[in-house]
Amino acid sequence: MHSRWNDAGAREAVAQFGAAGTDLALRVYTSRLLGSDPDLVLHGGGNTSVKTIVRDRFGAELRVLCVKGSGADLSEVGPEGLPALELDKLLRLRELRQLDDDGMVAEVRRCLLDPGAPNPSIEALLHAFLPHRFVDHTHADAICALTNQPDGAKLVREALGGDVLVLPWIMPGFPLAKAVAEAFAKQPDCRGIVLMHHGLLTFGDDARTSYERTIELVDRAERFVAQRVGRTAPMLQGGASVLDAAARADFLARHLPALRGAVATVMQRSWGPEPQRVVAEVRATDEAASFGAHEASRALCESGPATPDHVIRTKGRYLHLTHAEVADRDRLHARVAEFRAWYQRNFEQCAKPRGAKAILVNTPVVVLVEGCGIVAFQPTRKAARIAADIAEHTIRVWAQGHAMGRYTALSEAELAEMEYWPLELRKLGKASQPALHGMVALVTGAAGAIGCGIAEVLLEQGACVVATDVDAARLEAAAARLRAHRAHLHTVVADTATAQGVAAALREAVLAFGGIDIVVPNAGIARTGTIEELDVAAFAQVQQVNVQGTMLVLQQAARVFRAQGTGGAVVVQASKNTFAPGAGFGAYSASKAAALQLGRIAAIEFAPLGVRVNMVNADAVFGDDGVPSQLWAEVGPERMRARGLDPEGLREHYRQRSLLKIAVTPRHVGEAVAFFVQGRTPTTGAVLPVDGGLPEAFPR
Ligand SMILES: [Zn+2]
Repeated sequence: MHSRWNDAGAREAVAQFGAAGTDLALRVYTSRLLGSDPDLVLHGGGNTSVKTIVRDRFGAELRVLCVKGSGADLSEVGPEGLPALELDKLLRLRELRQLDDDGMVAEVRRCLLDPGAPNPSIEALLHAFLPHRFVDHTHADAICALTNQPDGAKLVREALGGDVLVLPWIMPGFPLAKAVAEAFAKQPDCRGIVLMHHGLLTFGDDARTSYERTIELVDRAERFVAQRVGRTAPMLQGGASVLDAAARADFLARHLPALRGAVATVMQRSWGPEPQRVVAEVRATDEAASFGAHEASRALCESGPATPDHVIRTKGRYLHLTHAEVADRDRLHARVAEFRAWYQRNFEQCAKPRGAKAILVNTPVVVLVEGCGIVAFQPTRKAARIAADIAEHTIRVWAQGHAMGRYTALSEAELAEMEYWPLELRKLGKASQPALHGMVALVTGAAGAIGCGIAEVLLEQGACVVATDVDAARLEAAAARLRAHRAHLHTVVADTATAQGVAAALREAVLAFGGIDIVVPNAGIARTGTIEELDVAAFAQVQQVNVQGTMLVLQQAARVFRAQGTGGAVVVQASKNTFAPGAGFGAYSASKAAALQLGRIAAIEFAPLGVRVNMVNADAVFGDDGVPSQLWAEVGPERMRARGLDPEGLREHYRQRSLLKIAVTPRHVGEAVAFFVQGRTPTTGAVLPVDGGLPEAFPR
């Protein structure tokens, strides 16, 4: 590991953040250096501080500690993410014999200069009680590999030298802060402090010294580990049952829906029981595939995280599955049930006696599939990615620990205490749960006005969306419209009028998110012409896209729904024309009538799968310049000619024609789809018009 300190970068930080003071600007700079190296800290792990002087409102100098906010990410921290606390008040707390967690949080918050600032790190007192101006705390992989051994303290001394203090595991909080300060007082010339099973502390009187001590000590640890086990631990170097990259993708594409279904949890909603679904994040890397194939992998998956900070993101155990267990539904469910039983037992025995009230979701977050890799499951993609990132580093630490001796993490009781520690849970924030979070939607024809509108509303309500279209350029334009949600959007160029196109789209959906819960067969085309003059090829093409395409999407989606076993929702785009046909529009009207009927059949056939199928009848949806309606590009000119209207006049004509005198927008259609897919009413086989009210098109 090398120092990434760079004088120009430091100067730049001072130029950018200097208004907050040079000390704080450099604290931001080196915090980001630490935060952007995943071998040092991951996602909200670690914390940093600086002691400096500010002037209060009366111009008087005040000694402050600026410390990272709890749970904030070091890689993107700014001055505002390091709230200032009155240092002298903090230091007085050291006189106390004891201080419980709530008391500590209250006292620390009382020291904030800005009462509206984020909660300071739960390790704020630890930073305050050390005398140095800069303090850096990380959970470096190499340090964790050394400390999670039966003789870890000895290994640390061997690797890092005698000028580093080693402290046993103590829960973060007031007792740890005091223990660190007392240990330091006995050996004030030490270069750093290693906290067993936890991480590393370094310090210095300037930003660079403190940062580079972290790098220096982690580098020593890395070299020591490499000397013992080689650059890459043997577990990560392949084995008999490791699949090649293509076979991994095939295996996961085939089996992920069943796995995703098995780890969903049934929740009681106000309108009835419903699965809380999770999104999958796949890491089928060579290392992960190799690790999962090793004979020691299963035991290590149950051995505990590298640092207890990870337990709130990944739980204390991962679930290891062989190929055979993944492929056999009964065995798969039995393995997940075993995990749930362990989690329940551990909660009862370890967390409850320490005051935990409600059990968290009891399904595994991280699954290691033999020879394939890591799959992380969480209700949001962000949380799933965090868990997967942590898992990628953890298997490396496990593999190193295994090669060095015996990987030995904290006990399950200690981990449960950490997992249910209120101050740790607070880091996750109040999870706002949008209606569709954890759900994955497939929207075909997503480059069209209506498809894009549907995708937009589903994304806003928390779903992950796989948007497909046959037209790459137009799909890109639609994706640009949806860029605010790009973390949850996956686009696939595919012709969903063909079986191969649908299969490709579903495969991508499964590999991107683990499966599908919402299907909107929306792709459609139109050709105008009276029956007398209609071109047969054009007629057939409309039927292929609108009817065959809908059928194929329903057919292949049903197989995914069946594998998942967690129900789902389909919303078919019918049309006002199915109830109120018009001359010269036979090809389109006939195709939509067929699609409507297919939807009704699907409602009957899919009900045993818990899948609701409903239809939306939209009319006169023009879209806008950004994402215009293709249908109106096709039929608009002729209608304008027939009625002697310009484009604006045509829109106005349709608006006036409706009972409500409202122009129908793509978002209106999206809202109708969102209503159906939320599943709040026991409705299937229904048709919801979104047309401003047209008596001749009332469903019947
Ligand atoms: Zn820590």
